[in-house]
Amino acid sequence: MNKKVKTTNRRNGRLLIRTEICDFCGSCVAVCPMDCIELTESEISIDLSICDFCMNCVKVCPIHIISEVTE
Ligand code: SF4
Ligand code: SF4
Repeated sequence: MNKKVKTTNRRNGRLLIRTEICDFCGSCVAVCPMDCIELTESEISIDLSICDFCMNCVKVCPIHIISEVTE
């Protein structure tokens, strides 16, 4: 049987981080398999051109401020 390996799981949405209340703990960065979360001491952003929407960051954020927004 032909096994199809799915490497991406793109959705018709984007990830939104409520940056104004982020405490920059770095937990989301640590679990991102694509290394697409950019974190400095005062800014955080996700490069959605490489994100595969695995949702690891959404699940791990201790204050639940990353969410998927569908458009
Ligand atoms: S959804 Fe997955 S790949 Fe995308 S930023 Fe979060 S942890 Fe990284
Ligand atoms: S896990 Fe949540 S609080 Fe921590 S850096 Fe990421 S978005 Fe900010």
